[in-house]
Amino acid sequence: MTAHSNDQNFAQVRASVDAWLARPLQMLIDGRWQAAHQEAHHDVIDPSTGRVIARAAAGTAHDVDLAVRAARRAFDSGPWSTARPAERAKLLWRLADLLDQHADELALLETLNTGKPLKIARAFDVAHAAECLRYNAGWATKFNGETRPVSLPGEWHAYTLREPIGVAALIVPWNVPLPMAVSKIAPALAVGCTVVLKPAELTPLTALRLAQLIKQAGFPPGVVNVVTGLGGEAGQALVDHPGVDKISFTGSTAVGKKILASAAGNLKRVSLELGGKSPVFVFADADLERAIDAVARGIFANSGQVCAAGSRLFVQRAVFERVVSGVAERARKLRVGAGIEQDTEMGPLISAQQQRRVLDYIDGAGSEGAQIAAGGRALQRDGYFVEPTVLVNTTPTMRAVREEIFGPVLTTQIFDDDTLDQLATRANDTDYGLSSSIWTRDISNAHRLARRIRAGNVRINAAGALDFAMPFGGFKQSGWGRENGREGLEAYTELKSVAVDLSA
Ligand code: NAD
Repeated sequence: MTAHSNDQNFAQVRASVDAWLARPLQMLIDGRWQAAHQEAHHDVIDPSTGRVIARAAAGTAHDVDLAVRAARRAFDSGPWSTARPAERAKLLWRLADLLDQHADELALLETLNTGKPLKIARAFDVAHAAECLRYNAGWATKFNGETRPVSLPGEWHAYTLREPIGVAALIVPWNVPLPMAVSKIAPALAVGCTVVLKPAELTPLTALRLAQLIKQAGFPPGVVNVVTGLGGEAGQALVDHPGVDKISFTGSTAVGKKILASAAGNLKRVSLELGGKSPVFVFADADLERAIDAVARGIFANSGQVCAAGSRLFVQRAVFERVVSGVAERARKLRVGAGIEQDTEMGPLISAQQQRRVLDYIDGAGSEGAQIAAGGRALQRDGYFVEPTVLVNTTPTMRAVREEIFGPVLTTQIFDDDTLDQLATRANDTDYGLSSSIWTRDISNAHRLARRIRAGNVRINAAGALDFAMPFGGFKQSGWGRENGREGLEAYTELKSVAVDLSA
């Protein structure tokens, strides 16, 4: 049964989405819809069935060049970088309102392209994207430099200016396509940059629908360009292009390193949001029912395809059995299915390749001595489903414990009366440093452990808890720079200092 199958509104939305998908999907370059050079295209797949649902343009270096030139013109001589902050804010608000008006349609597109539950696509992905636009719109009129009290001889007026960097290339992954695209577009536009967005080849749909809404909102041509296509081709051409001043990339650590090397050509500014292998500590004194729920959500939400997923669980020995069996029970009860089905709580993985990868990690852990407390297999149906999985008897050297799986697989370990320094050593025994959570009623210990964990985000008696006001990003190989908050906008600016000798 499909979600809202009796709902007339859903039937209308479905019909309009189907009609939209049936057309060839073109790219937005300089305010016009364009096919890729030589009409190149690639298939777009619904991961809950494995069927082709659309054909998207496979942008080439030629198309990227057109898009970067358009963004360059819009920045250098066009209206955007000099637009009044209030005008930029107004357009961002207008776009947020359009997202709200088209929320059902955007949610359905996201669900068809990723398999995620429709309710979640609507309540989280689309709502989050609209709020992100509003949050950053607010900053457009409040993002200032500051005066500085210099100690030079004489009388001075000294101040800093925050100026837009220029053309920003925004490269995003497939796990939360719409929020990810908007989380880069919104701060870049708020401070006056122009952009070229490249969505992941697996998930171009909501980025292209967003591009239509951007045009409808009235953004001038060239301010936002969207080029679809393969990472190694369109993505690589974008990071190599000398007309790009800034790259903001979210994706795997391996590709992040490659991008860094390519950006060296003209010393592009680079922000990287990369992988994670985040620890979760549950102490015996914690509110265990809340902790168990949050641990399960933290690893199974979005089928575990979340950079900040709590994938390494550490539980104090006295409550280990209770916590792990609680999470395993929730794993067994989760309704896994296509996002379009009414009761689905967890969807498929994004591709056959990702499904194989996740199953390989589970098998590998088994051959290294781990045991399966829940899940562990693919579902016997079309699409790329893997059961929510809990592994026990896992050790710090296993591949499944060390590497980012990006799937619904939780590894679990016991701790005894380790000191906070020992616990932090265990948490930090990873190349990554993105996120972490701590569950305990001993709030001093929680704060002390928070200081010792080398990760960009720590949550105490909470998981996830993302807010636009809170900087988000990683230590170590989880990335460079921060998104959200003032820092998220600063990443799209250059800082200039101006000093005037008033005695001259
Ligand atoms: P990926 O690195 O394969 O691809 C990400 C994007 O980069 C895609 O748009 C892809 O087309 C493009 N790309 C690939 N090769 C490129 C190249 N040579 N030059 C330029 N662009 C290229 O990552 P993925 O598999 O799409 O996403 C999963 C990864 O993303 C996971 O590692 C996850 O942890 C990470 N991620 C991180 C965050 C964060 O905020 N830290 C958020 C979501 C996902």
